[in-house]
Amino acid sequence: MTRHDPVLISGCSSGIGAATAEMLVRAGHTVYATARRTETLAGLEALGCHALALDVTSEDSMIAAVEAVEADHGKVGTLINNAGYGEYGPIEEADLDRVRTMFETNVFGLARLTQLVLPAMRRSRSGRIVNIGSMGGRITFPVGGFYHASKYAVEAISDALRVEVKPFGIDVILVEPGLIRTNFESRVNESLEMATPPHGEDTAYADLLAASNKNTTGGYANDFMTTSPEAVAALILRAVESARPRSRYVVTSAAKALINLRRFGGDRVWDATMRSRYGL
Ligand code: NAP
Repeated sequence: MTRHDPVLISGCSSGIGAATAEMLVRAGHTVYATARRTETLAGLEALGCHALALDVTSEDSMIAAVEAVEADHGKVGTLINNAGYGEYGPIEEADLDRVRTMFETNVFGLARLTQLVLPAMRRSRSGRIVNIGSMGGRITFPVGGFYHASKYAVEAISDALRVEVKPFGIDVILVEPGLIRTNFESRVNESLEMATPPHGEDTAYADLLAASNKNTTGGYANDFMTTSPEAVAALILRAVESARPRSRYVVTSAAKALINLRRFGGDRVWDATMRSRYGL
């Protein structure tokens, strides 16, 4: 088994981050579980995780978290960039300040944390960076365009980085989940509520927003479309421990099917599928 201890994970207050911290610590890894609100980490701390405050939109917070791990172990062995959320809305009407804030978390937070751990990884000529992307980095749904853009950015950053750091013995792995039963859905629904009247006042996209709301709720309620955060965590554990990890891991069969439809069907088939799903 290959170990790249210690493991630093962002966004462990819930969902995939919490499940991953738990699974890794139970498997014997040294885990630094982090969150903006450290009180959410009590359960993970009781299991043996080290708890640290980390807001990936704050430079000081990111530096402090990486320094804390490096003070104990000399370096971060594995970084799991998990923190992220979905800010939804039609491209024309989405509030760009809210979109910028999402990019600060999903893209620049991930990028900066990566920059901070790399010097010590390079010096030790080993390390592993696991980026939690999304099937939404390979396919795009209407109303999710800006969220997907943030995950497409994670794809590009991961592809470039993988080649750049391979000579230093560092692996870069992308995990691309489909629909996972976490708090992600409620964050998406909150942003959809902001975009839909009465909060969204006038919108030219009321029917589309209603369809998007229905598809999101229906998708997450469908057991064939979704899986648990523990299923993602199990795959991350495999990626962390594998001697020769793959560059990409897609989670859920539905996500694999959608990515293949997009890839082999081209724009025409994809657009027709989306128009039919969204009643356009
Ligand atoms: P979740 O339960 O909502 O967890 C998201 C985590 O990110 C929370 O711990 C949240 O902390 C944290 N976070 C948000 N902004 C942060 C910031 N500025 N600094 C540090 N932490 C921050 O949802 P999840 O599904 O586990 O999401 C984890 C990752 O999976 C995300 O990158 C998401 O895009 C990706 N993903 C999820 C799905 C899905 O269907 N669930 C599908 C594809 C990809 P707070 O509690 O402080 O907000």
